[in-house]
Amino acid sequence: LPRDLYGEERANSVGLDLAQASARDRVARALTAFDREDQLMASPLVAGHAVDGAAHQVMSPVDMARQVGAVVDASVEDVDTAFDSAVAAQPGWDRRGGKARGAILRAMGDAMEADMDRLLAIMAIEAGKTLADGIAEVREAVDFCRYYAAQAEREFDSAVRLPGPAGETNHLGMKGRGVFVTISPWNFPLAIFAGQIAAALAAGNTVLAKPAEQTPLIAFEAVRMFHAAGLPADVLHLLPGRGEIVGAALTTDPRTAGVAFTGSTEVARLINRSLAARETAIAPLVAETGGLNGMFVDTTALKEQVIDDAINSAFGSAGQRCSALRVIFLPEDTADEIIEGLAGAMDELQIGDPTDPATDVGPVIDNEAREILLRHVERMEAGAKIIKQIDVGDKFDSGFFFGPTLVELPSLDLLEREVFGPILHVVRYKRKEMTAIAAELADKGYGLTLGIHSRLSSFHRQIQSLVPAGNIYVNRNMVGAVVGVQPFGGEGLSGTGPKAGGPHYLHRFAGERTVTINI
Ligand code: GLU
Repeated sequence: LPRDLYGEERANSVGLDLAQASARDRVARALTAFDREDQLMASPLVAGHAVDGAAHQVMSPVDMARQVGAVVDASVEDVDTAFDSAVAAQPGWDRRGGKARGAILRAMGDAMEADMDRLLAIMAIEAGKTLADGIAEVREAVDFCRYYAAQAEREFDSAVRLPGPAGETNHLGMKGRGVFVTISPWNFPLAIFAGQIAAALAAGNTVLAKPAEQTPLIAFEAVRMFHAAGLPADVLHLLPGRGEIVGAALTTDPRTAGVAFTGSTEVARLINRSLAARETAIAPLVAETGGLNGMFVDTTALKEQVIDDAINSAFGSAGQRCSALRVIFLPEDTADEIIEGLAGAMDELQIGDPTDPATDVGPVIDNEAREILLRHVERMEAGAKIIKQIDVGDKFDSGFFFGPTLVELPSLDLLEREVFGPILHVVRYKRKEMTAIAAELADKGYGLTLGIHSRLSSFHRQIQSLVPAGNIYVNRNMVGAVVGVQPFGGEGLSGTGPKAGGPHYLHRFAGERTVTINI
C-alpha cells in the first residue's frame, strides 16, 4: 500500500468496473429495484425522528414528467429543536475521542462501498449523474470518511508535548468546536454532503446538515446510513429546505460554531455576513466556491491529448463541476487544428439517459440552470463566435438537456463570471500576448483549477506564476481530484481553504487547547 504524509499506509476505495458484465448487471438490478420501489421520501431528521409535514415533489432532471420522490422541508422550529439536541450532545461526542469517532466513520465508509449500486442509482435519477460519475462520487464519499477517520484516530486522542522550561509541561490538543453547520451542493450530492459531515464529526463536532434543495433524497439516505453505522441520532440532524429559510436560520443562529459550505461565491459572502453579524462567538467559514478555470496550451503540447483532456474537463458531468474547464487558451499556430479536433470530438459525445453506461453527458440539474446557459449563449451570439453547439433534439423537451457548446471569444472581457454547464470558451493568443492574457484571467479574481499543456517546464512555471489556482494539472485533465492524492480547494473568489481531502482540512473544524502545568 502507498504511504501518506505521516508514513501510514492508506488506499482509496474500490469502485465498480462497468466494462465487466457482472458490474453492469449489478447496477441494472439496482436501477430496476429503484423503478419498482415506492417513491423515495425525505424529511427533516431531528434527533432521529422523521418530521411530518406537507411534502413537495422531487422531479428528475432526466425526465421532467418523472417524480423521483417527495420531501418535507424543515421549518425554522425544526432548526431550533435540532440545535438544542446537537448542543446537548456535543460534549459527549467530543469526549468519545478520535478512535471511537473514526470507527463509526469507517463503518459508514464500508456501508456506502457495499451499497454503491443503490446510491449511484439514486444519484442518476435524482441528480442526472452518469453511472461513471456516480461510481467516482460514491468512492469519494467513502474516501472522505476513511481519510478523516484516520486523522481523527491519529491526532485527536492525545495532546502533543511541546518543549518548555524546566519545571513546566506544555501540551497542545485538539477538540470539537461545538455544533457545525454543513451546507452542500447538488453537483456532488453525496460526496461533498458526506465529506463535510464526516470532517465535522471526526473533529468532535455535532452537525446540522442542509443538503441542496435539488437533491434531498440521496442526502436522506446518507444520513440514515450514518445513523445505521452507529452514529447517535442527536449527533447528526438533517434539515432539508430552501437556503433563504433553512440556510438563513442555520447561519444566523447564535449556537452555530462554524459553517462548511460549498456553492456559489455570492452565497458564501452572505453566510460570511450572517456569521459576522452575530453577537456570539466568531465562527469560522470553510467555503469552497466557483472557478473560472483556464487551460493554457503551447505549441509543444500533444494535440490529441489536449483535445481529450479538454473535452473531458469541460463537458464531463455536463460541465457541472466547479473544477471544470471554462476557457482554453490556444497558440495561434495550432489553434485551428485543435479547435477542429475539439469540434470533431464533441460529435462523438453520447448525450442522454445517465443510466445508460454508454452515456457521456447527462442533463443539467434544472430549468433555472439551463435558462442561465441559454441566456449566456444568446449573449455570446452577439459578441463572440459559436463554433459548435450539439443539438440534443427532442431530449430538450423531455429533460433538462443542454448540448455541449464551443465558443470562440475575441477577448476575455466577455466572460466575467463562472458559467456552470457544458460550455467551453476558446481564446487564441500570440506568443507575445500570453503574459497579458494570463494576467487578465488572474484579474477575474478566481483561483480554483488550472490546466497546463506543454512539454516545457519553463512554460509550466511561467503560467503557474501568473494564474492563481488551488489545483494545478499539467498535461492531463483537470477534474476529479482524489481524496488524499489531490487535496482540493481554491483561493480568492474560489474559496477559503483548507483543502478537502487534505491533511489540513480537519484542523479548521477543530478547536485547539494549550495546557501549561507548573510542576
Ligand atoms: N472535487 C471536484 C473535482 O475535482 C469538484 C468539486 C465541485 O465541483 O464542487 O472535480
